[in-house]
Amino acid sequence: MARLDRLLANLGYGSRREVADLVRHKQVELDGVVLKDAGARIAVTPDLPERMTVVGKPVDPPAPLTLVMHKPLGVVCSHKEAGASVYELLPRRWRARMPALSTIGRLDKDTSGLLLLTDDGPFLHRVIAPKSHVAKRYIVSLDRPLEGHEAAAFASGTLMLESETEPLAPAVLEPRGPKEAALTITEGRYHQVRRMFAAVGNHVVGLKRDRIGALDLPADLEPGAWRRITPEEQAAIF
Ligand code: URA
Repeated sequence: MARLDRLLANLGYGSRREVADLVRHKQVELDGVVLKDAGARIAVTPDLPERMTVVGKPVDPPAPLTLVMHKPLGVVCSHKEAGASVYELLPRRWRARMPALSTIGRLDKDTSGLLLLTDDGPFLHRVIAPKSHVAKRYIVSLDRPLEGHEAAAFASGTLMLESETEPLAPAVLEPRGPKEAALTITEGRYHQVRRMFAAVGNHVVGLKRDRIGALDLPADLEPGAWRRITPEEQAAIF
């Protein structure tokens, strides 16, 4: 249970005082009934958007919230980096959400594809924890044709990236054309895929993540589009 004013303030609808004003102006309804008390205790369930309206619109989904996004090229995954970020693709109000949404791992500005965002800390840590071994698959376009030795190098478990001291865990390379391949990795090192190909003398010119665990980039998501993850999709990650 949560106090109504705290719940809506944490969803970014304004300060508790501003939320109290919304309530006073009869702008908040639950199950079709106008709520009159900003201090009312509300059961916070995942179906709240189907039951509560704020200014006539379904309330934003409460935490825990996990999104699946098709990250477009040209946007960054961090608040700190310069340039447009994936967070700007979400409703403006959501920037004030508490707990805040954050990406589960990052994709480079020049990488597109499957990206998860969540405000569920334990879930985030479970996905990125090395011991979870969650596989991530990337579709790679290369500058030069594959030479044939790359799959063995990536599978070896001995490949070193420049300026690192620990070898990479084994990774699976599936060639899909002279200059195209799918690469599945279980780690998440900085610029890992680009640096892996640099380590075998090639250069990545296009990179798209299309799978995390057994979750494929949903076909209904165009670049820049996102939606709530379904329970089935969430279960497919592990
Ligand atoms: N590896 C990279 O080099 N870049 C990404 O965005 C993801 C994996």
